[in-house]
Amino acid sequence: MGYIAMIGLEMHCEGSETNSKVFSSARNSYSTTPNENIRPIDMGFPGVLPVVNKKCVENALMVSMVLNCKQPEYMYFERKNYYYPDMPKNYQITQETKPIPVGIYGYVDYECNGEEKRVRINNLHLEEDAASSDHLYDTTVIDYNRAGNPLFELVTEPDFRSADEAVAFLEHMRSVYQYLGVSEADTRKGHIRCDVNVSIMDESLDPEEPSNWGTKVEVKNVNSFGGVRDAINYEIKRQTKLKEEGTYDEMPQQTRRWDEDSQSTIFMRSKIDAVDYKYFVEPNIPKYKLTKEWLDEIRASIPELAYDRKKRYMNDYGLSEYDSNILVKEKKISDFFEETVKLGTDPKEACNWVNGMILSYLNYHMITIDEIYMTPDMLRDLIKLIDDKTISSKQGKDVFAKVLEEKKEPLEVVKDEGMMQIVDESAIEDVVDEVLAENPKAIETYDPENPKALDFFIGQVMKKTRGKANPGIAYKMMKEKLDNMKK
Ligand code: ADP
Ligand code: MG
Repeated sequence: MGYIAMIGLEMHCEGSETNSKVFSSARNSYSTTPNENIRPIDMGFPGVLPVVNKKCVENALMVSMVLNCKQPEYMYFERKNYYYPDMPKNYQITQETKPIPVGIYGYVDYECNGEEKRVRINNLHLEEDAASSDHLYDTTVIDYNRAGNPLFELVTEPDFRSADEAVAFLEHMRSVYQYLGVSEADTRKGHIRCDVNVSIMDESLDPEEPSNWGTKVEVKNVNSFGGVRDAINYEIKRQTKLKEEGTYDEMPQQTRRWDEDSQSTIFMRSKIDAVDYKYFVEPNIPKYKLTKEWLDEIRASIPELAYDRKKRYMNDYGLSEYDSNILVKEKKISDFFEETVKLGTDPKEACNWVNGMILSYLNYHMITIDEIYMTPDMLRDLIKLIDDKTISSKQGKDVFAKVLEEKKEPLEVVKDEGMMQIVDESAIEDVVDEVLAENPKAIETYDPENPKALDFFIGQVMKKTRGKANPGIAYKMMKEKLDNMKK
């Protein structure tokens, strides 16, 4: 018998684009120096009081609007009570009970392998992040930089049927967060973490009917998209085996973790051991009404998202869907492309460079576009040097490599390498005349009908200019003069 997989995601994304944390005035910025961005509240000192960061709430509301969620009438928060060294206040400020979250009951359309899919969103809520612990050989150290950072937690309904769909959705959401400007959504900086929920059911049953669903297995804290894919596929296989052995129904609802090293999920606890967090309304943050005016203002400020940008590239710039998709995948790359076009570069040429040379350089060196030495200005200059025939397009590739290697401007490279082509017609004419004067015999045997007959003369021009004469101009001029002589 075949099975259907039911997969639901809890996606946590760090809101990285505000100056301060969500309830604390400490700086909200990624740092590799531990305990640099902290205030007493992040350390749980007695008497500390939270203050809501308006910008974080605005950003969360913006995300909830893009997720087609309903926004609540009043905004307030709750305490989730538990003790853990990375949570020194002994509670996390979050939003759990409906209808508090910044958004409930929405949906998102996304593309998976060229097909449009829809996933229902259960809710999006705003909460504070915990600190991070590093488990060393015989000790554990805690870095409170992350404590109190804004975190958007998005909970989907179990509408994904495969790892492909779940990962396509995560990629879609990463792009939404980046385009909204609410998070860098950089997995390398740990901005995105997921809990993955998986169960399977007989394919003959109706997946729309919740009583048919299998037992939910939650895999906690998967922090890469590759990990999400592997964890889902591993769970589907593991659970299918239990079905086939006839022991699936004995499996308790449980929490597991993804173990990179063994490429497997490992049992942590069963639902029976679940902690009671004793939620109650956070008394130090007053409940406040979300006015229609404010919500309208936020809705009006939603910027162009990847999908709309892609359509614009196809309609206004005549780029292919394939190229447009590559350009908009990462907002920073798309911004780089737009900047280059704004500086006066032909969109098709800019697209060829960005999707070709630049992307392969970034991939090869595993860096992001803001880490590359090339700027939109430099790319514009480089393309211009080729367009006005100062250098050939083949030389353009060498200049590109040298700009990055030697950290020089394109024009500087062209000058230093003596690549400057001679395009000045009178300068080329001087050399052409010289060559003609020096080779009377060759002129005698020149045959205007033989296309190869010019090669010798052009060869001489190139020799005299050390390859720098523009071949097109030299060729045209030489042919005209020779043909005239033969008339
Ligand atoms: P909990 O109360 O344990 O947090 P929820 O009902 O809030 O559980 O669901 C958490 C996540 O698990 C959601 O993403 C939801 O879609 C998913 N989920 C719920 N039931 C199942 C199931 N039977 N199989 C797979 N995923 C499920
Ligand atoms: Mg949960």
